[in-house]
Amino acid sequence: MTTQQERLQARLHTIHERIHAACLRANRSPDSVQLLAVSKTQPADQLLAALAAGQTTFAENYVQEGCSKIAELRNALPADQFRAIEWHFIGPQQSNKTRAVAQDFTWVHSIDRLKIAERLSEQRDIHLPPLQVCLQVNVSSEASKSGLAPTEVEALAHAVAHLPRLTLRGLMCIPEPTEDEALLRARFALLRHLRDNLNQQGLSMDTLSMGMSHDFEIAIEEGATMVRIGTAIFGERHT
Ligand SMILES: *Cc1c(COP(=O)(O)O)cnc(C)c1O
Repeated sequence: MTTQQERLQARLHTIHERIHAACLRANRSPDSVQLLAVSKTQPADQLLAALAAGQTTFAENYVQEGCSKIAELRNALPADQFRAIEWHFIGPQQSNKTRAVAQDFTWVHSIDRLKIAERLSEQRDIHLPPLQVCLQVNVSSEASKSGLAPTEVEALAHAVAHLPRLTLRGLMCIPEPTEDEALLRARFALLRHLRDNLNQQGLSMDTLSMGMSHDFEIAIEEGATMVRIGTAIFGERHT
């Protein structure tokens, strides 16, 4: 009989092997890619199971859902185990919910306007380390709605880099769903080029947050440093 815990462990193991293989194909060090477990819609016991299997980095899309799971795990775990978890916010941002994000999360990947970034910076507790942030870029132009246009990235990046309680770490994208591998590669490569250009202007961004369950190997071959994987770890979401 296979338990839930064993299934999760086996899936995580498979993903680590696939990340490793993709890194080798791309002549990259296997530890240059961090795996984020996208736990949206998953109950807290699934996060605890993933934690028991060694996964300590989780990503959530919805503020209330994410914060209530963070509170559940804070109560369920010894303080040092809870502190070892890194929480990433990857969902759409609303200005009336920035305070909770600024308090509970370590990273935010979905910054797409200055007003949100300014609020997060103002609301980040002075006793916490700066919030680590990425700008979300719309790399698929008219085929997608969320994120900044590539032409808007430069101005926002320089503005965000000056906010005192944020550390600008890089760029994030969600390309439109497509079976066209060459197109997908071009979308990921665009994000990498945008990041490299900004670094040449004096910014120092080390992060490319790109790649999900169905395309993370291509993303790694194109330079991803963080892959955000939900379904391939936890199974289909039951919403
Ligand atoms: C849901 C989600 C993911 C994970 O998607 P899977 O296909 O389940 O791996 C990654 N990134 C974002 C922004 C998401 O909303």
